[in-house]
Amino acid sequence: MVAPHPLQLFLFIDRLASGRESLKQLQTQLLHFQAECPFDLDVIDVAEKPYLVEHFRIVATPALVKTQPAPRQTLAGHDLLGQLHHWWPEWQRQLQAGRPAEMTAAPLADSLTCTTEIVRLQDQIFQLEQEKKQLQGQVRFRDQILGMLAHDLRNPLTAIGIALETLELSQESRQEDGEPRLTPALFQQLVFQARRNTRVMDRLITELLQASKDGVARFVLTPAPVDLVGLVTEVVAQVLPTAAGRNLTLELDIPKELPPAFGDGERIRQVLINLLDNACKYTPPGGQISLSVLHRTTQKIQITVCDTGPGIAPENQERIFESKVRLDQSHGQEGYGLGLYLCRQIVQAHYGRIWVDSTPGEGSCFRFTLPVYRG
Ligand code: ADP
Repeated sequence: MVAPHPLQLFLFIDRLASGRESLKQLQTQLLHFQAECPFDLDVIDVAEKPYLVEHFRIVATPALVKTQPAPRQTLAGHDLLGQLHHWWPEWQRQLQAGRPAEMTAAPLADSLTCTTEIVRLQDQIFQLEQEKKQLQGQVRFRDQILGMLAHDLRNPLTAIGIALETLELSQESRQEDGEPRLTPALFQQLVFQARRNTRVMDRLITELLQASKDGVARFVLTPAPVDLVGLVTEVVAQVLPTAAGRNLTLELDIPKELPPAFGDGERIRQVLINLLDNACKYTPPGGQISLSVLHRTTQKIQITVCDTGPGIAPENQERIFESKVRLDQSHGQEGYGLGLYLCRQIVQAHYGRIWVDSTPGEGSCFRFTLPVYRG
């Protein structure tokens, strides 16, 4: 660390205020003095560091504060240049007269501790502000996800309600001969509809619980609106050389009108890269990879990566998302069996779903959903 000069000055200025000419003269004079006798000069814009204004109790700008040698002295007012000329010889005299080491050591140490403390506090304020922004983003994300879940749950619930109501009405309004108005086939269909929708609700709730248990707890997301078109374009540009090197063609299908997704752009990028890397890795040369984006419902966007690789047998289609699972067919390819596991954690942290549809021998389609951002 460079030792500070025995003379330390702080010049407080307000860049927005008038009086630039006199400030310029003052700065020129200070430079002139600095050439004569080097000293430390910090120029502080009051708008940028209000805590320093507070600390040094500055009431007007420009102001010149001498912190070393002690005692601290503040010059301010319209004739700052004149005051500087007046005090400069006195400060020189003080410096030359010097002080016994034990007398100067304490104030110098004090001043340094004070400056270090200010810098530390400044860092802390910055970090707290970042944390606040992040927390606000997360609260907003949760609120929107709750809206999305409520919407997802309401659909099957409404279907169950309609089925039950129709059944009830048919029981009440029997025909004159005592027969219910519903045919046995229609009766069966309504019961089936109610049952199927309770299963849909059950699956949604299980997924939701799973997401809060695994994904959300493990990942701290920094959610923000994500421009998927831009993100996909960047990722594809990144993967293209690998695909071309393996003689694979890469097709894109992205709608022009796509709302932003709501999530952590960097994490979503990780998922896309993993899926495209796998498609490149496991598809034999000459094959085809396609990436498509679909605005599936008002609440969800679905992204699909398909390939013409070996495909995945039905009994392995869930397993491959577990940690360290690699299929026999993949030996010979680099990997640790963690990529898809990580993808699932990330997608679940977004309260989305990731799965694979595949026909062995024909290829695989990996799909995942993300929430739509609704401003
Ligand atoms: P890694 O690729 O590092 O082994 P992943 O978790 O990404 O790990 O994938 C797990 C396993 O799933 C792979 O080892 C492979 O057997 C299978 N797999 C993943 N993607 C594909 C694909 N596109 N086609 C066929 N099999 C795949």
